[in-house]
Amino acid sequence: MTANAFCWIDGEILPAAEARVSVFDHGPLYGDGVFDGIRFYHGRSFMLDAHLERLRQSAAAIGLALPYDAAQTADAIEALIARYDRAEGYLRLVVTRGPGSLGIDPRSCPRPSMFIIADELNVMDLSDPAAGVSLHLASTRRLPAACLDPRIKSLNYLNNILARIEANRAGADEALLLNLDGYVSEGSVDNIFIVADRRLRTPPLGDGLLAGITREVVIEVARDAGIDCEQSSLLPADLYRADECFLTGTGAELIPVRRIDDHCFSPPDRPLVPVIMRGFRERIARDCASG
Ligand code: PMP
Repeated sequence: MTANAFCWIDGEILPAAEARVSVFDHGPLYGDGVFDGIRFYHGRSFMLDAHLERLRQSAAAIGLALPYDAAQTADAIEALIARYDRAEGYLRLVVTRGPGSLGIDPRSCPRPSMFIIADELNVMDLSDPAAGVSLHLASTRRLPAACLDPRIKSLNYLNNILARIEANRAGADEALLLNLDGYVSEGSVDNIFIVADRRLRTPPLGDGLLAGITREVVIEVARDAGIDCEQSSLLPADLYRADECFLTGTGAELIPVRRIDDHCFSPPDRPLVPVIMRGFRERIARDCASG
């Protein structure tokens, strides 16, 4: 949290340090809730409709009625960005089951709570972001959809956090998770792509991953640049054989991967990652730059 952080909470905008939720809220008590993260550039939120739609779907998947509709939420976001003193930042939109009894039963929570934080976000502390991140292949596997569908962006992030703890212990910046079948799913807070034979490959949603909005933007950027992108299952060996590798996420944006454990990627003659990164930046400028 930084000193400039602000929070919209039930119609009011406060310095984030003053915002409060109840200790009886099932969000902190049980991780019962959903969230989404949105970046804003040039004072405008990027891919807002897609984020609000994903939030709606996550909420629907856990039987949670959003307390505000998309238009009201967009208005709240606009007011919050106007109050925040920088034109670029990150928004964290959280909807919890709301206060209820100490038991787990969601029916004891009559009204969901919603808050939105505007702040900076550093998903990883990289000494040299251009050089990229290091990954650790975690022994913690991504939860199968039959237990908790990774497509639901819920407040239960312990699966991802346990993998990140392993990465921290291994001295890596980020964790890479496999699904129970041994296929690559995603990072703890980002999606993964490789470049092989001058084409992009990324795991399909059926391999158990969040339907990343940055992932979708990158697929579009690649298509516009005439670069093929295939969504197909990846084994760790496919990553080790790849020419390039990168992560995508609202927080991470687009970061090259420099190594996975002791496997280092050596930069190819004509790398594609910088081309995709340029296209991504152009897309942000086109969508958000004030005209
Ligand atoms: N996977 C996980 C587990 C995440 O938490 C995130 C961050 N939201 C992503 C992927 C990337 O998704 P997006 O591009 O929509 O931020």
